[in-house]
This record gives sequence, C-alpha cells and structure tokens, in this order.
Amino acid sequence: MTADLLKASELHKVDPVFGQVSFDGHEQVVFCNDKDTGLKAIIGIHNTVLGPALGGTRMWNYTNEWEALNDVLRLSRGMSFKNSLSGLNLGGGKAVIIGDAKTQKTPELMTKFGQFVDSLSGKYITAEDVGMETKDMDIVREVTKHVAGISVEKGGSGNPSPVTAYGVFVGMKAAAKYKFGSDNLEGKKVLVQGIGHVGEVLVQHLTESGAIVTVTDINDERVHQIGAKYGAKIFTGADLYSADVDIYAPCALGATINDNTIHNIKASIIAGAANNQLANEAVHGKILKEKGILYAPDFLINAGGVINVYSELVNWSREQVMQKTENIYNTALEIFKFADDNNITTHQAAFSMAQKRIDDTKNGLNK
Ligand code: NAD
Repeated sequence: MTADLLKASELHKVDPVFGQVSFDGHEQVVFCNDKDTGLKAIIGIHNTVLGPALGGTRMWNYTNEWEALNDVLRLSRGMSFKNSLSGLNLGGGKAVIIGDAKTQKTPELMTKFGQFVDSLSGKYITAEDVGMETKDMDIVREVTKHVAGISVEKGGSGNPSPVTAYGVFVGMKAAAKYKFGSDNLEGKKVLVQGIGHVGEVLVQHLTESGAIVTVTDINDERVHQIGAKYGAKIFTGADLYSADVDIYAPCALGATINDNTIHNIKASIIAGAANNQLANEAVHGKILKEKGILYAPDFLINAGGVINVYSELVNWSREQVMQKTENIYNTALEIFKFADDNNITTHQAAFSMAQKRIDDTKNGLNK
C-alpha cells in the first residue's frame, strides 16, 4: 500500500474549471492507488485546527483525475467551514473514490480504502457521501476506527441523510422568514433538484408543510416514483433555472449556480443540500446579492448530517442531535443579518464567522 503526498503549493495548477483557489490552504492531500482492487482515491485534509478532519467519501465516475482532485479539494475546504460554523470540534476533510458506485464498488475496494484511512492515524475520519451507504462504512469500520456514519446495528448513528434534510428544511424556513417575513412555507413554490437520499426527505417535509413542490432528477424512474409518492409536480420545462418558483433547492451535485444558469434564476431564495453550489463563490455570490436572491449558504444548512455523524464520536443523544440541527435556523438568521449589516454576501458572512472560530482557536482565544 502506498500513499503519495502532493504538496499544496504544487496544486495551484489544477483548477481550470472554476477558476477559484479551492486548493488553497490544504494541509495534506493523499493519493491512494491499489491495482488489485482497482481503488483510486484522493483524501483531502484541509484544516485540522479544530480537531481531526471529518468529511464523507464520495464515489463518482469522474472523467479524469483532475476533476476528482478539484472536487475533493472544494469539498474538504467546505467541510472546514461547515464543521466550524456548526460548533463541532472537527477540522475539514473529504475523500473521493474514482469509479461507478453501482458497478465498481466491492467489499475489497472498501476494505482497501479503509486501510488508507487508517494509515493517516486519525488525522482524517471518513463517513458517507454520494455513492456511499452505511453498509460501506461498516466495511471500513472493520479495518479502521477512524470512521463514522456506521449502521445502527453496528452501534452507529445510521444514515445521516434524514438529519441533513431536516437541517436544510429549517434553513429554508429561516430564509423564508428573512425574505418573506414568515417561515410558513404553505403555498410557496419550491423546486427540488436531485431527489436522492436527502432530496426525498426534504420533499417529504415540504409537502407536509403545504409547499407546492416540483421535483427534477436525471433519474427518470426516481422522479416518477417520488412525484407519485408525495404528490409533487414533475418538472418538464426546458430550463429548470428559469422555472417560476419561490425557492430553488439544489440537492444534486455542486456548481449548479454558474455563469450559464445564474442569470436565468427566478427564485427569490436558494436553499438546498448540495455542497459547493456556487461555481465561483466570490463571483456568483455577488451576482445573487445584486439580483436580490437570498442564498442560504450550503455549508451552513446542510450540516445536519455531519452533526449526526459527530454524535457517534461524542455520544450525543438523538435529542441533542436534533437540537443542534434546529439551531441552523438561528445561525442562518444571524448570518443573513450580518451580511446585510456589513453589505457582504451571505456566503462571505458565513465564511467569516466560520474562519473566525478557526483563527480564534489557533490563537488560543477559544479556551
Ligand atoms: P444521492 O446520491 O442520494 O442523491 C443525489 C441525486 O441527485 C440522485 O438522485 C441523482 O440522480 C441526482 N442527480 C445527480 N446529478 C443530477 C443533475 N444534474 N440534475 C438532477 N439530478 C441529479 O445524494 P444525497 O446523499 O442525497 O446528497 C445530495 C447532495 O447533498 C450532494 O451534493 C451531497 O454532497 C450533499 N450532502 C449530502 C449529505 C447527506 O447527509 N447525504 C450531507 C451534506 C451534503
């Protein structure tokens, strides 16, 4: 087993896609390669000031290794801010496995991946993300203790997605309160893009609260199944960004708010689960602000899952997990106000609050 380390200073050549410094400040990037199992993975450790770097593992059919690297760097950086803003004693990290989760994920591959995680001696703690399930984490648990999000049967906290969805729901309600003056979503038109593990539970909360929900997904079968199950509309137009809705909830993959889509968006609020929704945080955050669209920062409102996973490490009860997740509502309101008071974007506001906690801890001010 070998793990090649690439220095952060060598990575600045890699962000041709989004033109932002997503590599910036990474402490360590580990390339994992195993011919026998076909494992090709990258572990990004962005920052460990607040604690070990915790973030899920994504398995995705990236077209090349640069694309995978770009993704893991953006995701691990986001985890530093997510964990900080949520008040968790965790740093930011993330892993990606290159391959098709449906056809290439084997127990042997997951075991080998777990051995790579173990070789980092707890500096990185893994969990599930897109393409992973609790049963995969159970396999990883057999070879390393540096894993969370394992099944309830094995003593873990189980699938984090329902808690993530609940956090997104309360974050969306806070955004509605700030933008519309009421957090009652009854009658509000919401478009949910991506109805996987998180998206489906979000649709459930939204329909229960009387919102008029439209769903879209690249998986047609799933769209029809979820549409019928919750009585949601199915999006059929040519351009979902220009759909006549009050709230757009990106719950698929990241960077859906980009140069090609941003000028079409009609929604007044963007609040969803996907990580790294803004292709370029500075540019697209500013355009949203200018257009008067309230953006609920992704790394704030999708933190329910990591709060749930963290409960395994600190023995929080279910009530404590839900209470911490509900607090996303208050933090969101605080961020929206801070952004307005300082004439900055909501992303900048969330980022600066998260960074302050990291800096204060580094400087010994958070005793
Ligand atoms: P998932 O894989 O279960 O679901 C993703 C869904 O999006 C799938 O149904 C897929 O078909 C669909 N999809 C992919 N590309 C699409 C596109 N271009 N247009 C429309 N649909 C598309 O993943 P998930 O666990 O539900 O996570 C969703 C998002 O939320 C991801 O970005 C993930 O990183 C983020 N997130 C998840 C959690 C969690 O607890 N699962 C926590 C934090 C953040």
